[in-house]
Amino acid sequence: MAKEIRSDEWIKQGIKLFGKNRFAWRFECPKCGGTQSALDFVNVKRFAAGPRLAFLLCKNGALDLKNVPLNQIGCNFNSTTSDLSQVVIVINPKGKKIPVFPFAKK
Ligand SMILES: [Zn+2]
Repeated sequence: MAKEIRSDEWIKQGIKLFGKNRFAWRFECPKCGGTQSALDFVNVKRFAAGPRLAFLLCKNGALDLKNVPLNQIGCNFNSTTSDLSQVVIVINPKGKKIPVFPFAKK
């Protein structure tokens, strides 16, 4: 079973760990162990989807604006299509469940 947390509690945790700037919050990929923040996605081709990518998609499989992989690890872990036991489920005020990467340990 995935760990479930209400969005207000999740936000409190994020602020406690990394401060109020959510672009600086760091997440850890459950598959390759890489850590990333929204700032890491500024030059990523798929940034159109927004900084939410930082907790939905591993940057180690992402391409930059010139279609070059950010690194050679090639991890394509995606929290929305993964085994839910590997991710954290954030429940928003409307009751919607959003599978996200766990916070990095700093
Ligand atoms: Zn990864």
